[in-house]
Amino acid sequence: MAISQDFAQKLSEGSGGNYFSLANDKDFAVVRLMYETIEQIGEDIYAVHTTDDGKFECKRKNFTDPISVCPLCQSGNKPKAVVYLRLYLVDTKEAKVWEKSYQWYKQTLLPALEEVLNENPNAKICNIPIKIVRNGAKGDMKTIYNLFNKTPDNVGLAELGEPASIPLKEYDANAPIDDGTASNSSNNANSDNDNDLFRGM
Ligand SMILES: [Zn+2]
Repeated sequence: MAISQDFAQKLSEGSGGNYFSLANDKDFAVVRLMYETIEQIGEDIYAVHTTDDGKFECKRKNFTDPISVCPLCQSGNKPKAVVYLRLYLVDTKEAKVWEKSYQWYKQTLLPALEEVLNENPNAKICNIPIKIVRNGAKGDMKTIYNLFNKTPDNVGLAELGEPASIPLKEYDANAPIDDGTASNSSNNANSDNDNDLFRGM
């Protein structure tokens, strides 16, 4: 027996319930990004470790930071560059967080925003309603999200309320966790890849 759409949606959101998602092909939402400038979005880009106990912020801030400053890097768990976009959903007036790769941010979102800002030099990011359309069935790894920018208006951040909080935990080195990568823990073997990750952030 199939489960209800509502139940599937709830499950796909995970425990936080703060995550934005579009579950099915051609689902869409109109959102605003809760920022005024591109620089502010940059503050929500993180290096993230995923473990069985959740997601943790990497303690390295730059590719020149040694692996030794971050216990999870040291354990062999590779961080991923992630942007947590704080969204305002226009229809439901909800605040959500959209977790996307840094690569997607740079290749898809940033050029789309820059195009609008070039044509509207005085616009703030939050002035731009953006329609996000899912292209890809549930579970399809090749799913893409098309963005359609609407004409900027005068809606400011103050009208959007409080943004959702970013679902990252602070790693406590005194409470070691099983991240499932202990067998792959030679400290420096991954450093080249890690350095690639941080390049250009
Ligand atoms: Zn780390």
